[in-house]
Amino acid sequence: MTGGAPSKRTARGEVWRLASRYNPGVSLSVYIHFPYCLQKCPYCDFASASIQRADVPSSGYADAVLMELEERVAGFEKIPPLASVFFGGGTPSLWEPRELGRVLTGIRSAFDQPHAGAGHQQALEVTVECNPSSLDQARAAALREAGVNRLSIGVQSLNNDRLRFLGRLHDRASALRAVAEAQSEMPRVSADLMFGMPGQSAGDFVAELEQLLALEPAHLSIYALTIEPSTQFGALHRKGRLQLAPDGDFAETFMRTHEVLSTIGFEHYEVSNYARPGQASEHNLHYWRGGAYLGLGAGAVGCLHVTPPANSRKHACTREGRARRYRNTPDPATYGSAATAPEREVFEEWLGSEELTREALMLGLRTCEGVDLAETETRLGRDPLVGRATSVEQQRATGNLVTEGHRMRVPYSRWLHLDSIIASIF
Ligand code: SF4
Repeated sequence: MTGGAPSKRTARGEVWRLASRYNPGVSLSVYIHFPYCLQKCPYCDFASASIQRADVPSSGYADAVLMELEERVAGFEKIPPLASVFFGGGTPSLWEPRELGRVLTGIRSAFDQPHAGAGHQQALEVTVECNPSSLDQARAAALREAGVNRLSIGVQSLNNDRLRFLGRLHDRASALRAVAEAQSEMPRVSADLMFGMPGQSAGDFVAELEQLLALEPAHLSIYALTIEPSTQFGALHRKGRLQLAPDGDFAETFMRTHEVLSTIGFEHYEVSNYARPGQASEHNLHYWRGGAYLGLGAGAVGCLHVTPPANSRKHACTREGRARRYRNTPDPATYGSAATAPEREVFEEWLGSEELTREALMLGLRTCEGVDLAETETRLGRDPLVGRATSVEQQRATGNLVTEGHRMRVPYSRWLHLDSIIASIF
């Protein structure tokens, strides 16, 4: 992995030319980052700037994203099929639905995907992340009209003290209202919950989960609170003024959550994600299966599969250089004033087969379906077990890895040890 060479040092135009050489059979997801929130949460290290609701530059930001879309797609040699669209952030529910819809229309046009329209089956999954403080029934309806068919709502907790601890702007009642109103307008709704807060027992978490289950959600994302060094919580943690729940509580909460949700028919399809049958997030599955994605917007990351020419210096550096990952500047003002990709991007790395194999294992083993070894070999041109056959065999012998046909996975009973199992085969 070359890692981190700023694109400004790359000959102008070269990045573009290389990044556009798609394998035409490979589908592509599009991620659009909306870099504004009403208030920065103390645990969050995502690219987001605080802004007053009235100051959100909905139209200008849509223009900037559409300009980036046009420029990036113009460089593609072939237009790949579109797998999914995801508006994340930040808080994209602050974006005026009309302007978000303008961006979505641009994406559909660029990839030749007509809007199915009301009353028709919508094949393309289009998700918008929402916060309860910027979502009501009218906004959910407007987003549906704009072509969105899935909302992911950041509930995080249904305990008011914990919501205050997390610095959230909503309370329990408004979170439940937002989920219910979203469900009344939108075909698919997901909710996020967090656990592992100080003093939060497994029983406390399950009590919150059960309040949410009363609304019969079809999809849940359940994450442990983690301390990121660059956040307010990170600073408090370094000073010894913030402790997370002990490991034992974490494990108990994880296992009880799995039991509760599995018993009522949810599939635990990824370590942090549960879905009713047929309700898994296609966008996330696309990532976890190693799919390519186009990132648009301030702070967005994209990863495009490419085939550099034989005489490329990058090609030599990265052995095969099968994908290029880039990150746009997180600063909305810089992003808005940039005219070309090299001006927008603050980071790029070229990934060869070994790097992509590691990613395929790291992401795939976090899912219940595991890694498709045959597909990975076809996609990356090398056997993913080369160089790790002994360690894989050792993990198989202990039951940490299971192979069925051409799939390799970690059984549920070992998911608490996923990180060390994955590390052992790297
Ligand atoms: S609302 Fe979400 S993206 Fe915004 S600061 Fe809070 S956690 Fe981060």
